[in-house]
Amino acid sequence: MGVARAVLPDVPHAPRRYLRCNCCGGEAGRFVQHWNQDTGWGICRDCLERYYIGKGHDAGGVLSIFGVEGVNYASAEQWKRLKAKEAAAWAKWKRENGIGVVQPEGGAS
Ligand SMILES: [Zn+2]
Repeated sequence: MGVARAVLPDVPHAPRRYLRCNCCGGEAGRFVQHWNQDTGWGICRDCLERYYIGKGHDAGGVLSIFGVEGVNYASAEQWKRLKAKEAAAWAKWKRENGIGVVQPEGGAS
């Protein structure tokens, strides 16, 4: 809705950095540091949906704790892209390291 952005000190063009999730410790994506989070920390979409959105925190609560969706933390769409990229990177790494490669039936034993 535009309203949230107007009252927030964070601006969309502020520098983005890689953030870790203060909840699970995983990657939270590359977003703008929110003033209410320790430097380098944010929230990943999984934890946000699991523990915050619709879990006793209204939109204003989430806004003051984590900031603006798509600026300070991943939107559902951004998260989906981020996860897809991560999965692709893992698949590539596994291929290159011969991990999870299933030998064809009746092959060398
Ligand atoms: Zn998390």
